Amino acid sequence: RFITFEGGEGVGKSTQVKRLLARLNEAGIDAVRTREPGGTPKAEAIRSFILQGRSESWGAGAEAVLFASARFDHVNQLIAPNLEAGRWVLCDRFHDSTRAYQGLTGGVDDTLIAALEELALNGHSPDLTIVLDMDPEVAFRRVETRAVEEALTSTGDRFEKEDLVWHRRLRDNFLAIAQANPGRCVVIPADQPEAALEENIWQVVSQRFAE
Ligand code: C5P
Repeated sequence: RFITFEGGEGVGKSTQVKRLLARLNEAGIDAVRTREPGGTPKAEAIRSFILQGRSESWGAGAEAVLFASARFDHVNQLIAPNLEAGRWVLCDRFHDSTRAYQGLTGGVDDTLIAALEELALNGHSPDLTIVLDMDPEVAFRRVETRAVEEALTSTGDRFEKEDLVWHRRLRDNFLAIAQANPGRCVVIPADQPEAALEENIWQVVSQRFAE
């Protein structure tokens, strides 16, 4: 099984990926967790390059190609081998982020996004995508709190500095992607306590994959 988590900044994806991994392991299911951009040494190198802003002036099209390049390595080196070994793969962001950020928000046309997707995914589409949905204003406060907590070591990157209007549009874009892919995507309201959200996600996952 291949499960991806999507959504805007600060909605709690990483925490929930960890929590789901723990639940699966408790249930005796062998699973791994990974993230995008990144997941393999080469893809993590591309992640740093992009998040440090070194490709910022290249435009969304060239960045979409960079994200796809990272994804190509990630799929071939990590995701596919684990799925083939019978493990579940949980991924924090995947191709829907490229659709939302570079495509719908960045203005890269569908044809390029679809072509890159086909190359990078190589047939490995997620079985389930959990879209964590939250008002960006609420999510913003969480990101800020986290940044304060992490003080100078904050991982805040250039995408977290966009304004509220941009984040609202991003949220709508993720919701539109979910609506266009009802068989694969499930939208879950993320503005709730972590444990309640974990339970919500567990219900969705266990119902979807009940054998
Ligand atoms: O989810 P995480 O914070 O690790 O993602 C790193 C950053 O990369 C995010 O700020 C997100 O906005 C950005 N990103 C992007 N396009 C993608 C994937 C992630 O702009 N396709």
